Amino acid sequence: MHPGPAGVRRGLLGATVLGVGRRGKYLIFHLNNGRGLVLHLGMSGQVRRFGVDPMHRHEHMRLEFSDGQTLSFVDARRFGRVCVITDGGPLPRCVRGMERLGPEPIEKGYSAAYLGGHLSGRKARVKSLLLDQRVACGVGNIYSDEALHRAGIRPDRQAGSLKPPEVSRLTVALGSVLKDGIRWCGTTMKDGGFVLVDGGVGSFQDRLRVYGREGERCRRRGCVGVVRRQKLGGRSTHFCPACQK
Ligand SMILES: [Zn+2]
Repeated sequence: MHPGPAGVRRGLLGATVLGVGRRGKYLIFHLNNGRGLVLHLGMSGQVRRFGVDPMHRHEHMRLEFSDGQTLSFVDARRFGRVCVITDGGPLPRCVRGMERLGPEPIEKGYSAAYLGGHLSGRKARVKSLLLDQRVACGVGNIYSDEALHRAGIRPDRQAGSLKPPEVSRLTVALGSVLKDGIRWCGTTMKDGGFVLVDGGVGSFQDRLRVYGREGERCRRRGCVGVVRRQKLGGRSTHFCPACQK
């Protein structure tokens, strides 16, 4: 935690939450005291409103509101981050990545020209570049695999080898996968993942076409391929060798 629990507490005490926003994978609570509370859920972080069961084994922070409601930050694997920032001030180290976030594929202005500019001439695998938050802000491991499947592109392709029509398909696929993920309230896998503030689970996991489906039939209409899994850049990667080229 930065600037430490005491600093976070000082920054929040007595403040009113004006609104909650998001940038990439960062949640931002805008406060009326010129500060913001920034949360990154990491691998397993959850923001939860506990009803009758206020205690949780992995609760790291609890916000108590004047109307008696509470909001908890729960994180079993402890990759999450909690931080207080000051409007217009320098960002603390733990959220400095926010300065380098690129445009989001669900934004109107996100274009094939932008994505192509980051892929062109690069020898790195296309999936590895998609995980770079300057290239495709908000995209993580699951959504990059899904977008590449929708675009019909193998995750281990050299980024610079993508042809313009492939870059265009990938641009559209990134946006549509993120939008679908939001529409279906996120991806909650058996071993964890996104959980809604009331404890409910997402349902995008039921609609995944490759991720987590190793050995199962590809979900592209007319494709008889079987989903394969391999490690790529240390991340578990799923794709269909039949319809992803
Ligand atoms: Zn396939």
